Amino acid sequence: MRTQRQVVDYSLQKRAVLRDLLAGRVGTYDVCDASPYLKNAARFHGEPTDERCPICRSENLTHVHYIYGDELKQSAGQARTLAELPVLAMTLREFQVFVVEVCLGCDWNHLVEQYLLGRDGLAEEGPEQGAVGGVAAAGARTGRRRREAQR
Ligand SMILES: [Zn+2]
Repeated sequence: MRTQRQVVDYSLQKRAVLRDLLAGRVGTYDVCDASPYLKNAARFHGEPTDERCPICRSENLTHVHYIYGDELKQSAGQARTLAELPVLAMTLREFQVFVVEVCLGCDWNHLVEQYLLGRDGLAEEGPEQGAVGGVAAAGARTGRRRREAQR
């Protein structure tokens, strides 16, 4: 997605959990604990994948996209389909997406990645320009323009 930024990938953490499971340091009941809410979200808003569940290996994983952010108001914390995200990204300035993989067969679930979406990503000019820098730069530009106008 065009406005996707600040991506955090959780595949290392997932591999660590799977390693612990293989080594017997955690049990399947510890990692296969998807809540009824998460499973419902997977059924109704989930994105099917071609990836096999690493635990039961009989079902494919489903990705659930949770959205968070002040602009979302009462929708914050809800699951959205992948198709709905670009629409939100064009209407909102910034919101956080958490992608969770779920197996509807054995209840395995793990965070896949998180990232920011929203129109703010389209306005970014440089890679180092943070929110504060952006505001300062915009202020500087307006100030210059105002001075020029007074001349
Ligand atoms: Zn499974």
